[in-house]
Amino acid sequence: MSASDNDVLKALRSAFAPHALTTDPAELDAHAVDKGPLEHWQVHPPRAVVFAESTQDVQRLVRLSAEHGFALITRGAGTSVSGGANSTEGSVVLNLTRMNQILAMRPEDEVAVVEPGVINADLNAAAAEHGLMYAPDPASYRTSTIGGNVATNAGGLRCAKYGVTRDSVLALDVVLADGTLIHTGQATFKGVAGYDLTSLFVGSEGTLGIVVGVTVRLRHLSPHTETIAAFFEELTTAAQGVLEIGKARVQPAITELLDRNTMLALDQAQGSDLAQRGNTLLLIQTDGHGAAIEAEIIRDVLRGLGATVSDPGSAESERLIELRRHARGDGIATEVRVGEDVAVPRSRLVDYIRAIEDLAEEHQVQLKVVAHAGDGNLHPTFSVPSSELSPSAVSETTADDDAASPAAPEAAPVTIDPSNLDPTTVDAAESDLPASAMSRLHAALDGSVRLALEMGGTITGEHGIGTYKLRWLDWEQSAEVIALQRRIKDVFDPECRLNPGRAIL
Ligand SMILES: Cc1cc2nc3c(=O)[nH]c(=O)nc-3n(C[C@H](O)[C@H](O)[C@H](O)COP(=O)(O)OP(=O)(O)OC[C@H]3O[C@@H](n4cnc5c(N)ncnc54)[C@H](O)[C@@H]3O)c2cc1C
Repeated sequence: MSASDNDVLKALRSAFAPHALTTDPAELDAHAVDKGPLEHWQVHPPRAVVFAESTQDVQRLVRLSAEHGFALITRGAGTSVSGGANSTEGSVVLNLTRMNQILAMRPEDEVAVVEPGVINADLNAAAAEHGLMYAPDPASYRTSTIGGNVATNAGGLRCAKYGVTRDSVLALDVVLADGTLIHTGQATFKGVAGYDLTSLFVGSEGTLGIVVGVTVRLRHLSPHTETIAAFFEELTTAAQGVLEIGKARVQPAITELLDRNTMLALDQAQGSDLAQRGNTLLLIQTDGHGAAIEAEIIRDVLRGLGATVSDPGSAESERLIELRRHARGDGIATEVRVGEDVAVPRSRLVDYIRAIEDLAEEHQVQLKVVAHAGDGNLHPTFSVPSSELSPSAVSETTADDDAASPAAPEAAPVTIDPSNLDPTTVDAAESDLPASAMSRLHAALDGSVRLALEMGGTITGEHGIGTYKLRWLDWEQSAEVIALQRRIKDVFDPECRLNPGRAIL
């Protein structure tokens, strides 16, 4: 251990009680990586993890980081799928999960104030007691934190109707790189005083400041919902269905699309028979007092496209929404896969799906698509069967939020949780991949990202850049925009100690 390591640990030990600080190697490993792909990432466990219990703890740690010059990696639940919460060499991880109090619930104002470590589902449960909800609902809502959701501007199933995290954040308390605590925004739905710093912090992936308090807008929890399951023979017809629903001027709360390979994975994990009933599933939920009327319009539209549509009040459809929420991890990884979370203008959904089907064929890789189709946000995954690997190889994790793996009975199951990977295993994963298989996968992946951009879309709809997608950022952003972002970072964090090496180039 170098002298500076000793100095840092000594300073941390004098500033934090033993229960708030750990250097236990198992804990350091657990805090080294998130749920993102590790393909190009060398794993560097942090020097220490600090579990903050108050804003003052955060300020104290930030000031120590300034004094001793170590990088600080902020962490919520570590469910990022972009490598945004991966630690760096010599860093200290700031874990915020103990700051998990709902500080105020104001039903009349439809506003709540929470600490950053509050779990999304816990906020929703508390709001539901007042007939309210916190709308942004990433599929990780049972585990991810509001602070992490804010830092990544998380999306989710209900976003097409209710907007993404940014649309539900009214005000923030933020600790800046010099330890100063600021409050941005206001507790009212309206407010235009000065620059919109609240929006700047949302989605900045912890690179500008540490969020220690969040004032959120709540919405009405619908007393009625109606859920529709529509099975199609063709993926592109299902995508067309999404556009036709829009043309009928009906706004579902949820519009999710699952392709055949995803259904096969769910069937294998859940014992369902989805793949026997069609090649693509559109799952739609309407809400509000007009839920039943809107659902009837949607059923008519989808039947007109030849879909097999569930009956009103179908309990199975409700269950399918729950299945969809938990799709990721339900499959058995029998493949090497790469994926992303592009978004395209909704009018290009059909073109995009057609184009990536061609791409998969061209590069001889399998394709799986899950999409928050209502807002054009897709999670395509390209894979090759693990039978293409050498025996010691391991599976690469996808960047998509919900990619259950298709069954491949002939291949030996290979299951890897990235949080359990050590650097040696990661190197093995890289080197054991036949170059041809890896280059086919990456050609398809890069091609799918380029296509999204050509169609007016983005390289990341909801997961953020993290470390994984930095390679594509200058495909989307001009040199001028990149330079301006660097200058903004310089203003907030001139020594680049907060979450270095992620979000911006
Ligand atoms: C099964 C599964 C399903 C998912 N589904 C979705 C989905 O539907 N939609 C979606 O958008 N994402 C989804 N994700 C991705 C992930 O859950 C989100 O990005 C989530 O917002 C991360 O929250 P977290 O608490 O885990 O944050 P972490 O992973 O710990 O951190 C994420 C980023 O935020 C920063 N950060 C965390 N807390 C703070 C803070 N208080 N202040 C400043 N910076 C902070 C971290 O440094 C990091 O850069 C999914 C992930 C999984 C594993």
